[in-house]
Amino acid sequence: MILAANFKMNHTRASTRAYLQKLESIDKGDVALYLFPPFTALDNYDTAVATIGAQNAYCAQSGSYTGEIGLEQLEEFGIKTLILGHSERRHLFGESQELITKKFAFFKEQGFTIFYCVGETQEVRESGSTELIYSYIEQQLEGIDVAYEKLIVAYEPVWAIGTGKTATTEDIATMLEFLRTKTKRPLLYGGSVKPQNIAQILQVPECEGALIGTASWNVDTFMTMINIA
Ligand code: PGA
Repeated sequence: MILAANFKMNHTRASTRAYLQKLESIDKGDVALYLFPPFTALDNYDTAVATIGAQNAYCAQSGSYTGEIGLEQLEEFGIKTLILGHSERRHLFGESQELITKKFAFFKEQGFTIFYCVGETQEVRESGSTELIYSYIEQQLEGIDVAYEKLIVAYEPVWAIGTGKTATTEDIATMLEFLRTKTKRPLLYGGSVKPQNIAQILQVPECEGALIGTASWNVDTFMTMINIA
């Protein structure tokens, strides 16, 4: 089982440290924990409790890319795990499939573990056509090496992210079954996962864990979910 906490643009360097200190007291059993704090909180963690990863990066060693973080900066902190294709990168920051594919190829070449997110928008979901949802997701997998041995795929319907609306377990099961036809790699669900629904979600066939935003920002809430898992 995999549980990943995506802090997004929350927490500071200091509060991330405090969070990790508290997290270290947990008996996580066989749950693999991943933590994605902001860039400014990526440094100097020597923790066995969770693997620390970056929420994004640019696909170059270094160079003239104002405002970006590349391989050189991540390597300094020993970061070898990355989220790519998150809906907030796609929709709020306009990352195209072409750019995401380029990033994927670059960080795959570097041997990174990649949490790759896919998920349909509310508009596509409301079309009521499963075929349309499938083809939307297929486009998000275009150019991605789905056999990459360090790939983890997260199904995160855009309409369920940060909205409190969770996909039904039937919806999740249908989508994970579909993704299973595309890749043999671990499949996660993300989108308003919280202590009240995590047990049901983790029981969905093919679901090997969760990528959690909002409900992961409080360490006690995250620990509650680890204990449930
Ligand atoms: P959420 O975010 O848990 O706040 O819905 C999930 C995500 O964006 O990964």
